[in-house]
Amino acid sequence: MVSPGHLDLHEALERGEVVPYFQPIVELRTGKLSGFEVLSRWKHPVLGMIPPDRFIPLAESTGLIGQLTDSILRQAFAAVATLPSPLSLSVNISPIQFRDDELPRYIEQAISSGGFDCERLILEVTESALLDNMLQARKISMGLKELGIRLALDDFGTGYSSLRHLQALPFDELKVDGSFVRSMDHTRESRKIAAAVVGLGHSLGLTTVAEGIETRAQAEMLLWLGCDLGQGWLYSRAVPAEELDAMVSQERLLPVEDAPSGSVLGLMLGPESPESPRLEALPAQRLAQLQAIYDGAPVGLCFIDTNMRYMSINKLLAEMNGASITEHIGQRVGDLFPELFKTIGPYIRIALQGQPVTGLEVRYPKSAPDGGLRTLLLSYEPALDEADEVVGVSVSVVDITERKQAEEALRASEDHYRRMVELNPHIPWTASADFTEIEVSPKWEKLTGMTQAEMSDHGWLSVVHPDDVQRAQEVVGESIRTGQPLDVELRVRRADGAWIWMRSRGTPLRDEAGTVLRWYGSMEDVEDREDHALIDRILLLEQRIAELESTQDGVSRFQT
Ligand code: C2E
Ligand code: MG
Ligand code: MG
Repeated sequence: MVSPGHLDLHEALERGEVVPYFQPIVELRTGKLSGFEVLSRWKHPVLGMIPPDRFIPLAESTGLIGQLTDSILRQAFAAVATLPSPLSLSVNISPIQFRDDELPRYIEQAISSGGFDCERLILEVTESALLDNMLQARKISMGLKELGIRLALDDFGTGYSSLRHLQALPFDELKVDGSFVRSMDHTRESRKIAAAVVGLGHSLGLTTVAEGIETRAQAEMLLWLGCDLGQGWLYSRAVPAEELDAMVSQERLLPVEDAPSGSVLGLMLGPESPESPRLEALPAQRLAQLQAIYDGAPVGLCFIDTNMRYMSINKLLAEMNGASITEHIGQRVGDLFPELFKTIGPYIRIALQGQPVTGLEVRYPKSAPDGGLRTLLLSYEPALDEADEVVGVSVSVVDITERKQAEEALRASEDHYRRMVELNPHIPWTASADFTEIEVSPKWEKLTGMTQAEMSDHGWLSVVHPDDVQRAQEVVGESIRTGQPLDVELRVRRADGAWIWMRSRGTPLRDEAGTVLRWYGSMEDVEDREDHALIDRILLLEQRIAELESTQDGVSRFQT
């Protein structure tokens, strides 16, 4: 393989073959452009595009790094002269140059040649650059800071004594190394490290930037870890100067549907700046746990601040509301859902006064094309700070439309069932295993005048014809003993005092072991059956004979 040598590089710099490329850095939450990082490329006439990893070390070892940086900076500043404010420019500075006390002055000269603001310049340094001489590194850093230039610690996490550097030098920005970002997809450990790094950056008040974001999943994860900015192929590769304008004119670097829908807990807004939400500096681990709970919850959840703006919302609720998470954040409930707000607004106000509202049922039209009504069960819980001041309302929402429909269907089917029972000539009953407790259809009371309560404890026997009581008891007793179905015919006294023949049949419900749990049965009027008509006639005849006999007795008594 042909490799570029010292002479080549020297000539290349003279010929302007080493050029700056620009990789966009975006706001993770919105996908909006925040600035560019300058990355050098060597357009070699024979070898093609040579990456910086192959010629920066060469430049450093051959003393050409100063000339290279100078050339890159001047080209870069010329290219970004029209870059609208406040877009920033990040430039990599070689470790060797960071040992040069002249660096601040030299940067100042380069920047003024291009007419760029010092305040919008960020110098990126890797950790190894700082190792040898901390005192000197500190002095140079201070010199740069005095010019208003910001400092970023690049490739954070890959070197050693990172923490010492972070503490000792006045960094503004921390760049999480791409190797963590890429491995985040695979292992929990990497996620933990990424979370810890982002959390550390936050707790030191630094802006955190994640490098090497290639997938949406990585972007989402970083967003909910609370990372502010990101760069990577997901958004764009480094582009030549000619493409800068086109990139700047894009509102977002990702189509909205590809932007990290993200999430929620990481999106808490600072109270003072609704437009540029500042990510909450909560310990990242706790945030991640909360996030998982928040997103995994089977209920819709959100948090509303005292101005009734959505501070956070979980995926489920965003879906229920038919808008993305980002479309909710920072928006007022009343602006997003004016109709619904007419109903729920007063309750949110009650909660904001410190009074919880639970179990509120609200019906409102679905946003879906089917258009039906949906029923939501809402709860508003005031959230209090240490001083017991209400800082917002925690909202939970359960869509109970289906449950409601099921309840209604059940009620309707109960209705049907009741009607069926009422129209049916049979009188259903159910009894405990020993027949001491009996429940019977209300038709029984209509028929006999005997109430439900009077039935139990063998009370039902009191409406059975005295001649049939013994048989009834025997049949029931036999079934209780054997568990066999029962079938008995007996006369029952109607409310009007007349006796009618009824047939009662029942079968047992058993558990797995065969033990009888309950009896289920029904009674039917069998008065019309021919044999009963016959029996009735015989009974009538018997009665006549008895009457006759008694008259005959009278006659004979009379005769005597
Ligand atoms: P760096 O400053 O950490 O730059 C980020 C590197 O990650 C760049 O590599 C960039 O092209 C690459 N990158 C960006 N997005 C992705 C992604 O989604 N996936 C992957 N796999 N990589 C991504 P590049 O351009 O090859 O630069 C390598 C390093 O060379 C830079 O690392 C920087 O330390 C150094 N470098 C580049 N230009 C200059 C320069 O002008 N001066 C100095 N001193 N160093 C430079
Ligand atoms: Mg860099
Ligand atoms: Mg880096």
